[in-house]
Amino acid sequence: MSKTAESVWENCLSFIEDNITSQAYKTWFEPIKAVKLSENALSIQVPSKFFYEWLEEHYVKLLKVALTKELGTTAKLVYIIKMENTYGNKQPFTERIPSSNRSQVKSQEVDVPLKNKSPELKNPFVIPGIRNVKIESQLNPSYNFESFLEGESNRLARSAGLAVANKPGGTSFNPLLIFGGVGLGKTHLAHAIGVEIKDKYPEKTVLYISAEKFTQQYIESVKKNNRNDFIHFYQIIDVLIVDDIQLLSGKAGTQDVFFHIFNHLHQNGKQVILTSDKAPVDMIDIEQRLLSRFKWGLSAELNHPDYDTRVAIIKNKLYRDGVDMPEDIIEFLANNIKTNIRELEGAIISLIAHSSFNKREITIELAKKIVDNYVKHTKREVSIDYIQKVVSEYFQMDVDTLQSKTRKRHIVQARQLAMFFAKKFTKASLASIGSQIGQRDHATVLHACKTVDNLSSTDKQFRKYVEDLNKKLTL
Ligand code: ADP
Ligand code: MG
Repeated sequence: MSKTAESVWENCLSFIEDNITSQAYKTWFEPIKAVKLSENALSIQVPSKFFYEWLEEHYVKLLKVALTKELGTTAKLVYIIKMENTYGNKQPFTERIPSSNRSQVKSQEVDVPLKNKSPELKNPFVIPGIRNVKIESQLNPSYNFESFLEGESNRLARSAGLAVANKPGGTSFNPLLIFGGVGLGKTHLAHAIGVEIKDKYPEKTVLYISAEKFTQQYIESVKKNNRNDFIHFYQIIDVLIVDDIQLLSGKAGTQDVFFHIFNHLHQNGKQVILTSDKAPVDMIDIEQRLLSRFKWGLSAELNHPDYDTRVAIIKNKLYRDGVDMPEDIIEFLANNIKTNIRELEGAIISLIAHSSFNKREITIELAKKIVDNYVKHTKREVSIDYIQKVVSEYFQMDVDTLQSKTRKRHIVQARQLAMFFAKKFTKASLASIGSQIGQRDHATVLHACKTVDNLSSTDKQFRKYVEDLNKKLTL
């Protein structure tokens, strides 16, 4: 079958859609029209010069990857800008613009440089020129088990981590999935396992990577036409640690490649360690087959540390930094920052900094001020826009859908929840809330608030929505 501009562009779009948010996709890619395909040059029509500049600024790489996949390395992209005509001509005015190197505006069409310049650079971590490849683990040695204090909140995850470190690939904890909220030690524990394995089994190849970086590498590999090398590289790892896998959400291409890597490693008795800010059941936009793999091993949660653990963590940090702090201040900090160890550490650091810059003693007043500031800083003002964004994301729709006139039940519920939280978290009037959430009147907002109240006392699932959203909005 011969390729047409439309078919080529359609394939590009489906790849692009997988790799960016649906909002961005809607805004920047849906308005584009494919108009011509000649040789390997695809011409696309964009609505304005601004539009073209935005694409070049933000999406040129993605476009290149997509286009290379479709048309090979000699692919070209030509933009045609649909312009407002200022001279009274009826015909739409089109202008061709080079798609790269803007200084050469004179030339009409310019190749997107799609050639793979260094085909020998296959392993994303290899230093060029070194033949016998040694893979750097990318581990942070200070994130070890010794510095990861044990407490009720992390006991299961910590001991599972130790078990895995003692016998990588040889326990039923494969994969080991560590999940929990922000700042509770997922990254630290994941590194600790890797560090311990490196210590016990120096010959094993351990690799720590964030899901974000993994995704970038994958996209890069597609762009350079060496997706297979990318997969092979990961398949020779003995212990693969992927941090924040919730970030794979919505990225079908990356999920697919990870699925193959995972299967290969698992079948060969290699250890996989994953972290996520959500339990597998709560992960959205992750393929079912991948989710089911995540559940094969053990999912261990990191909970909020209890008071004693918080005190122990503070003391340990002070000890390592060689700083003294009165007991009452330690207690004050432990009592006031409860849900995030990173924040707790942040407050300690800024307390120490304040007292040493200003040559002041660390007093409870100073601690209060800093905790106040700290809490103020981290608690952002909740706006109605923000609420709508959070609610639509939670229900995987976009804000336009949430605001639309539809009577579909789940959309109506999402809208009512947005109104309810707008009432709860802002000082805006019912009328003003209504006008900002899809042009409704104050009676509709009032009705929404009542409905949410009613439903949350009668409907368990609905109550969970309210609790989840409440948590997200007060984070
Ligand atoms: P997450 O990846 O879950 O967001 P991190 O692993 O980055 O959290 O941890 C945040 C900070 O808290 C890090 O500096 C880490 O060293 C510290 N931390 C977390 N848990 C512990 C613990 N059990 N003992 C000591 N420090 C901890
Ligand atoms: Mg982390």
